[in-house]
Amino acid sequence: MEEKKKVVALLSGGLDSRLAVKMMQNQGFDVTAVAIKTPFCDFDCGRGCGFEIRGTADMLGVDLKTVYLGDDYIEMLKHPKHGFGSGMNPCIDCRAMMFKAGKQVMEDIGAEFIISGEVLGQRPMSQHGPALRTIEKEAGLEGKIVRPLSGALLPKTEPEERGIIKRENLGMIRGRTRKEQLKMAEQFGFVDPPNAGGGCLLTDPKFSIRAKDLFKHTETPTTNDIDLLKIGRHFRFDGNTKLIVGRNKDENEMLKALALPGDTLFETKDHMGPISLLRGDDSQNNLKVSSDITFRYSDAPKDSTGTMMVQKNEAHSEIPAGAISEPEYLKYML
Ligand code: SF4
Repeated sequence: MEEKKKVVALLSGGLDSRLAVKMMQNQGFDVTAVAIKTPFCDFDCGRGCGFEIRGTADMLGVDLKTVYLGDDYIEMLKHPKHGFGSGMNPCIDCRAMMFKAGKQVMEDIGAEFIISGEVLGQRPMSQHGPALRTIEKEAGLEGKIVRPLSGALLPKTEPEERGIIKRENLGMIRGRTRKEQLKMAEQFGFVDPPNAGGGCLLTDPKFSIRAKDLFKHTETPTTNDIDLLKIGRHFRFDGNTKLIVGRNKDENEMLKALALPGDTLFETKDHMGPISLLRGDDSQNNLKVSSDITFRYSDAPKDSTGTMMVQKNEAHSEIPAGAISEPEYLKYML
C-alpha cells in the first residue's frame, strides 16, 4: 500500500484549524500537528482557545508536537518588522515565527507542505491576501502554505501545481462569519465545536497597555515579568518601579510564587486584603505608597489607618498604612 503523504498543521485548538486538519485527512494525508506556545499563550489562561490542545489532537487522531517560542518571541516583540495591530499584537511577525517553527517540523519529518486554519479576511491584520503572502515569504515557505478553508480563493500553491491537492477539495470561506465552519463541523461530526477564538492576550486592550508599559521601561522583559502582567492591578511609580496588587486568593498566591529576590511583598495585618508585590526601587516613598494602596484594597474601613506587614527576601517588618485618596492612587494605575 502506498504510504500516505505527510503534512504539518499549525493547531491552535480553535475550530478553524481542526477543520483544516480534517479536510486534509479526508484527502488522504497523514497530518502531524504543531502547537505553538509563547509567553503570551500557554494554552492555559482559562479563555478556552487552546486549553484542550492535547484532547483536540487526540480527537483528530494526529501526532502533536509542541514548540515553545520564548526569548525569541520576546525579542521580536521589541521591534516587530511589520508593526502592531490595534493592541500589542504583532500578528504578521508572530505568524511568520509560528510558520517557521512549523517548517522545522516539516523538514524533520519529511512533510510535503504545511497547513493552517487561516481564513481569508477573518482577521484584519494578518489574514488578507498581501499579509498572507508576507507571512509566507518571511517564513521561507513561499508556495508551501495551504489554507484549506480558503484555498480555492487563494493563488495556487506548490502542492496544487504538483497535483497532490486539488482545487475542488479546497474551501471558499471568506470573512468573519462562522456559518460555513459550523456547518462543516456538523458534517465532520465534531461534538461541541469551540467558540470563536480571540484568546491572544496581546490583542486585549487592557493587557496591551501593561505590556507596552513593560517594554517601554524594561530593556528585555523576562517571562516572570510577563507572567506578572497576566494578574493583579498594576501601578507604575517610576521608570524602574511597579506595584502589582492581587485581586483574589489565587492571584495573591501567584504573586508570592512570582516574587524574586529583591521584590517586596505587602499584606495588611489586621484585615483581610490583597498581597502586593513591589518590584524596583523600595525607597521610603515607594514603600509608603505601596502600603497605602494595599491597605486601600483591604477590608479595612475607609479612611482608617492600620499596619502593613512587609517582607523583603528573608526580612520581615511592619510599617504604618494610611488612607490614600482615589486621585492619588489612580494616577499610578495602568
Ligand atoms: S492574535 Fe496573537 S497569537 Fe494570533 S497572530 Fe496575532 S499576535 Fe499572534
